[in-house]
Amino acid sequence: MLSAAVFKTNPFYKPFVIACFWILFFFLTTSSPLLAGEPTRQPVIAGSWYPAEPAALRKQITGFLENVKTSPQVENLVSIIVPHAGYRYSGQVAAHGYRLLENRSFQTVVVVGPSHRAVFKGVSVYDRGGYKTPLGIVPIDRKIIEEIKQTDPGIRYVYKAHAMEHCIEIQLPFIKMLLPNARLVPLLMGDQQYETCLKLADTLARCIRGKSALLVASTDLSHFHPYHEAKKLDARVLQRVEEMDPVGLYSDLKKGISEACGGGPMVAVMLASRLLGVNVSRVLFAANSGDVTGDRSQVVGYMAAALWVKSKK
Ligand SMILES: [Zn+2]
Repeated sequence: MLSAAVFKTNPFYKPFVIACFWILFFFLTTSSPLLAGEPTRQPVIAGSWYPAEPAALRKQITGFLENVKTSPQVENLVSIIVPHAGYRYSGQVAAHGYRLLENRSFQTVVVVGPSHRAVFKGVSVYDRGGYKTPLGIVPIDRKIIEEIKQTDPGIRYVYKAHAMEHCIEIQLPFIKMLLPNARLVPLLMGDQQYETCLKLADTLARCIRGKSALLVASTDLSHFHPYHEAKKLDARVLQRVEEMDPVGLYSDLKKGISEACGGGPMVAVMLASRLLGVNVSRVLFAANSGDVTGDRSQVVGYMAAALWVKSKK
């Protein structure tokens, strides 16, 4: 007590307290993620897979969206399936899915993709300070992420999964342009076993039911087959999606009758969508890299699809 009294009589006491107050205020209002040890994930494919310069990026995405001539009448959109190659290759296909977000509002976008670089069991969720894009930061949805982790404690943040992964980042400029205020739940599947898909679907359905949330499955289709062979493989995926048959899709992928690097995320999102009452599933557009580059010797397939609830009248 004595030392406190001595301290208070010090002529520098008042300015010291005022300075502390302002320093604390500054940190809490401008740098709270830093205090919490939550760095923003920096983009790793800006400037290569999509433009890093904001005006050029906006222009390219606007062009893609304008090129989408027809979109179906969608009532309660629940999910979209979109590709994740560089915009030069699959941006136009992705735009067919993202076009449905025009004049819609979702508070949260849950992106589920496959881990291309890190091998791990189960599912990783990035629960730090947000994903930076050239169009601004997409903040994470801390509340839904906490609910997901509580529902399935096996879902945790695996640093090596998100650090260099492209399949979530590539979606974000579209999301930032069309839903500028949306929050993100970034999920990566380290394994694509049916049990993992089923568990994730159940968790997602529980955690987003009744909320303003869109599910996004990030996947490309067949890889590096000649054009006509790829078309055949991809047609099988398209059919399973149109039939809303995630079990059949998983079985085909397992047997090698069809291919999709994000097969697990697609199956999980379809299963979750079914739990959320989806009764319509439509392929909006499909193409492959041969359609863009003209090189049909080895192509990668892409698809955009939408799943929604059509009310029974
Ligand atoms: Zn992929």
